[in-house]
Amino acid sequence: MHTERKIALVTGANKGIGRASAEGLAALGMTVVVGSRSLERGEAVAAAIGGDAVAVALDVTDQDSVTKAAKVIEERYGRLDVLVNNAGISGSGNAAPQDAVDRVPSAVDLATVREVFEVNVFGVIAVTNAMLPLLRRAEAARIVNLTSHAASLTLYADPDGPLAGLPSAAYSPSKTALNAVTLQYANELRGEGILVNAVAPGYVDTEINGNTGVLTPAQAAEGVVALALLGSDGPTGAFHSADGPLPW
Ligand code: NAP
Repeated sequence: MHTERKIALVTGANKGIGRASAEGLAALGMTVVVGSRSLERGEAVAAAIGGDAVAVALDVTDQDSVTKAAKVIEERYGRLDVLVNNAGISGSGNAAPQDAVDRVPSAVDLATVREVFEVNVFGVIAVTNAMLPLLRRAEAARIVNLTSHAASLTLYADPDGPLAGLPSAAYSPSKTALNAVTLQYANELRGEGILVNAVAPGYVDTEINGNTGVLTPAQAAEGVVALALLGSDGPTGAFHSADGPLPW
């Protein structure tokens, strides 16, 4: 099926910031593909969004699932205009940041670190590489990666800074690695006009932090949508928050 509407895939779009981003992109007239580990929960969100939103089963840590999702999008639309790599985990279930189990590096469970990197870093590479052939068929593809203020080496290197008292041995390093991955893709794809950026949404009221965040998912989604809509003169390889660029 060929369509002039832009096609956007959001991973982990069944709830939280991913869902709000899917809603925001759909409200702007895009055809949204709701990526969800549970197809059933994804379909419920796609139905709630309405219009031509659809769901696709997508576990970013399962290569077979990633490959199948790309095939579904290729068969339905033949291309992809926007990829939002939103799926992410803290490694601490739904604990608030001060209760996270990954706090102390000397005591962190290595399996937790691996699990967090599988989703937050390796999952992004798997999904991006599976979708790249489709993104390359779009006129001006955009990739948006959900990072965090906690990714900033500059912020957590400062012993007097706000993150020094909030150690995180798995989540923070995973998002720092994601920032590096974002830059690698930005550099590779710059010449093709595909813009790749990372956005830190701030402290958002979602399950990942036990709903202790202060911003709404809809507020967080504004930053995601802005990077998905960048014109050809927009930045690539940027690390953004709602308040502007963040230090690496
Ligand atoms: P959330 O409500 O917990 O949503 C996380 C989403 O990721 C869910 O849809 C979840 O699906 C999905 N997910 C987890 N593992 C997955 C996998 N293996 N494959 C596919 N999907 C998977 O949290 P959120 O706050 O919206 O988080 C969205 C992104 O924002 C994350 O990357 C997070 O690190 C980032 N972020 C959030 C905050 C904040 O304050 N909330 C701050 C900075 C950055 P299930 O429902 O199936 O588990």
